[in-house]
Formats: sequence, structure tokens, C-alpha cells
Amino acid sequence: MKREFWFVVGSQSLYGQDVLDTVDARAGEMAEKLSRVLPYPLVYKVTAKSNREISETIKEANYRDECAGIITWCHTFSPSKMWIDGLRDLQKPWCHLATQYNREIPNEEIDMDFMNLNQAAHGDREHGFIGARLRKPRKVIAGYWQDEKVQKRISDWMRAAVGVAVSKEMKVMRFGDNMREVAVTEGDKVEVQTKLGWQVNTWAVGDLVKEMNAVTEEEIDALYNEYLSQYDLATDNTAAIRYQAREEIAMKRMMDREGCKAFSNTFQDLYGMEQLPGLASQHLMSQGYGYGAEGDWKVSAMTAILKAMGENGNGASGFMEDYTYHLVEGMEYSLGAHMLEVCPSLAADKPRIETHHLGIGMNEKDPARLVFEGKAGKGLVCSLIDMGGRLRMIVQDIEAVKPIMPMPNLPVARVMWRAMPDLTTGVECWITAGGAHHTVLSYDVTPGMLRDWARMMDIEFVHITKDTTPEKLEEELMVKDLIWKLK
Ligand code: MN
Repeated sequence: MKREFWFVVGSQSLYGQDVLDTVDARAGEMAEKLSRVLPYPLVYKVTAKSNREISETIKEANYRDECAGIITWCHTFSPSKMWIDGLRDLQKPWCHLATQYNREIPNEEIDMDFMNLNQAAHGDREHGFIGARLRKPRKVIAGYWQDEKVQKRISDWMRAAVGVAVSKEMKVMRFGDNMREVAVTEGDKVEVQTKLGWQVNTWAVGDLVKEMNAVTEEEIDALYNEYLSQYDLATDNTAAIRYQAREEIAMKRMMDREGCKAFSNTFQDLYGMEQLPGLASQHLMSQGYGYGAEGDWKVSAMTAILKAMGENGNGASGFMEDYTYHLVEGMEYSLGAHMLEVCPSLAADKPRIETHHLGIGMNEKDPARLVFEGKAGKGLVCSLIDMGGRLRMIVQDIEAVKPIMPMPNLPVARVMWRAMPDLTTGVECWITAGGAHHTVLSYDVTPGMLRDWARMMDIEFVHITKDTTPEKLEEELMVKDLIWKLK
């Protein structure tokens, strides 16, 4: 899907045609220049002077699939009563860019004509009032439009807004149910569809097996060769790799047929399959599909959304699970991994294909999987939980490191990190907030982008940073509990 954003500039008829022509030309120039540096085109739509123009533009923005959001700005003063009807009906993400065309106040040149043309400082305040009065979720970005910092903030907001569009189109294919007795992977699918737009439905594992049986040897040859071109081969069990290729082709075919961008499965229901998909799920994730193990459809959809928000629409984000800790003083780390399914977009080096026995689940044969170490660097982990009556997104800042030991007998991909503010306090905060053991780990989606996403989706957002204390967090959660009951 080609996506774009619309630039809607506010004004009024008071200033005469000359001023309006100047505003129109400058708005076009700004949109064009910004489009060269932003991840999505910014299309200048209108210098709006009336209720009717604004309403028509916003109706169109709501209707157009390619429009992922609007950016508004008031070069001149734009009386906000004319914005009420349009903004009330706005269904797309909204960013209010408080900027001005010129960077400097021109000492010699400034007179009342200049003041009347360049009055964003109070035009944007009038515009801000109506956003606040209407209680419309919006992002406010202030600063000079040619500054890199401002452009980066607009870029991040655009990526979050694209995350909103992807969320509204999200379809999740579930193979089998959730793992028996597990609580945190459950959730209200009707609420999630209403709030986030996700269509979450189940397909029988038997249908997948039927699809697998229809995959041809030639198709498997082609995907096998693709695996060899992307990964190092560290097993002579060709049959296991070919079996994973068969699984991948079948799952991809079913998902593409149904328009699904995410899937989940469970080791407790592999009826008719020889291996839990490992390499298959990992290679699908590398292509932008979301995945959640043990039937965790929430983390699956979030993985697909974070991937779409990242670099080039398929960033370094993947399904992750907190496994075990290193609690040596001064060297405290979490070790994250999964039975098999860690996305190669997190890898520091070229992943190796290995086959090993997998004791858990109903695997008849040893599944092939990609083994690698995760990248070092700043990132985050993100969990979406169902609090009963509302959804809570929990984001924690992390610092990933090169794993401090080689762990030669660990047969899965692994990522090592320290949660903020430090490992044990971070764990206390995460557990207090109710964060899941499954997360999306991302190196390129920022907490700010997820805060924007949560605001646009109208869900609770909790951010654990280097400055969070369990005491402050506990109070924050109590206050939010009240707020979300009232909402
Ligand atoms: Mn798990």
C-alpha cells in the first residue's frame, strides 16, 4: 500500500488574495521540501479559509486509504470555530506542526505587513485551543521546519501513524488455540478489533497440513536455495530444512490468501506435523510477518506493526521472550530467546541453520532453526496486555549487549540485555505493571513512536525508563486505573 500524509494549512479571508497566494505558494514549497527528507510524501492539500473547505478535506482524508494522517499548521490566523466540524469527524492521525516559514525575525524588513503574513505564533495557539477543547488525540511538534531535529520528530510520528494504518488492516491467522492454562496470552478479541482494528481468527492445523502436502518439491528447492543464500549451513540434516521450507510455503500461502500479516501457533497442537515451525517462522518474520508463540496473537500482531513502523517498513523488531537472568553484581543481564522462533532482523551476524532435538511439544523430528547472537545497542521491549475492560501497552527501555558468554550448547538464537533503570529494579517495574514474558524487542522503533501509537489508538501507555522507580510507577498505575475506568 502506497501511503502519504496530507498538509492542511489554516487561514481566513481577512488578509486579501495576495497574502493567501503567498501562503499557498509557501505551503506547497514546504510540503515539497519536507517530502524529500520524510519517510512518506507530505502532500499539500489546501489553505483552508472556511468550515466547508476544512470539512471537505477531512472527509476526503477519512475516505482515502492512502492517507495515513494529516499535518496541520496555521501560517496566519485561522479562527478555530471553522475547524470544529472537520476535526470532530477526523478519523485519521493528526499532527499539529507549530512552525513558521521564516527562521528569523528580519530586523530591518519587519513591519505590520510582515506581522500579518507571519503570525503562526498566535495562529497555532488558536488552533491548539480547539484541539484541546475537542479532546482530540494529537501530536504537537514545535520548531523550525527545516531543522533536522524537527524533521526527525515528524518522521517518527509518521511511522507511528503508519503503525495505526497497519493496525487497522491487521489480520491474524491463528493455528490452534493458546497454550493451555496461560493467562497473559489471552485477551478480548472483540475489544481488540473495536479498538485496534485487528481481525483475529483461527484456522485448523489440519488445513495447514493439507496445504503443506500440496507444496511441490520444486517449490521447496527454490526456498531451500534462498535459505542457503541468506544463512550459513551448520547441519547435514537436509530433510529437516526442506520440511521447514514446506511449512513456510504453506503458511505463507494461507496467510496471503486471507490477507493476514501475522500468525500464531502452539507446540501443543502440531497435529499431523513432524516439526514445530522454527526456521519457517523465522524466515517469515524476516519478511515482515508477525509471529507469536503459544497462541499469543497479541504479540504476533504487535510484531508485525512494529516491523512496519521500522526502517523501510520492515525494521529490526522481533518476537522475544525473557528466559533467564545473570545476577552477578555489576553484570546483571536478561537472556532472551525462544524455543526456536527469534527473528533474524535482530541478528548481529549471519545466522546459522542448525537442527537439534526439541523435547517440548509434539515434535516427531528435530526441527531446523536459525541460531545467532542479537545485536548490541539501545532498544526497547514492548508488551500489550488485556487488563479487563482496557488494553495496556508497557514499554521498557533496554540496552542490549553482545552476550557475555558464548553458550556453545544453547541451540537457539539469543539476545542479552539490561532493562532500565537496572536489571532488578526494571524487573520489579515490569512485574508491577503486569508485562508479559512475551514481548516485541525492537532496535529501531522508539518509545516515543509507541507513545504516539498508543495515544492514537486510545489505549493506556506505560513507559519504564532510566528514571522510573517502583514507587512512582505504582502510583502512576493507580491513577491510570481510575482514569481508564472513567473513560
Ligand atoms: Mn513462549
